[in-house]
Amino acid sequence: MQTDAVLKTLRELRHATNMTLYAVLHPTMPTLSVQAVHRITARLLERGEIGLAPSDGRQLMLDANPHTHDHFACTSCGGLMDIQLPESTIAAIQAQLGRNLVRDGIVLNGRCESCAQAAEEEEMSGHMIRLEPLS
Ligand SMILES: [Zn+2]
Ligand SMILES: [Zn+2]
Repeated sequence: MQTDAVLKTLRELRHATNMTLYAVLHPTMPTLSVQAVHRITARLLERGEIGLAPSDGRQLMLDANPHTHDHFACTSCGGLMDIQLPESTIAAIQAQLGRNLVRDGIVLNGRCESCAQAAEEEEMSGHMIRLEPLS
């Protein structure tokens, strides 16, 4: 029951830490503890029903997709998006790596759409201030 709820929430979020899952689920499942979330996700990982996404190393980033895949990571908000690079691209990257093997997927870093939009709006409001006449 709790396992189903955790799995369902992770599938909705696609990527989440245990703390995020807890924060999302706790309001509707007051009996759910942080420890229970840790226990449930550890078991799901063991069974291969979920995977691990690249993270900053401070907290495990759980991935609803257990299969090897690539990611786009936003350096502003830390958001992750699943992508699947073509085999030929991975082969081209691998060719430059020699004996260092690409194994757990490739992470591309950049700025996500919503962060880019927020930055643009900030820039625009900056322009507006600059356009105001000096008094
Ligand atoms: Zn972002
Ligand atoms: Zn992923």
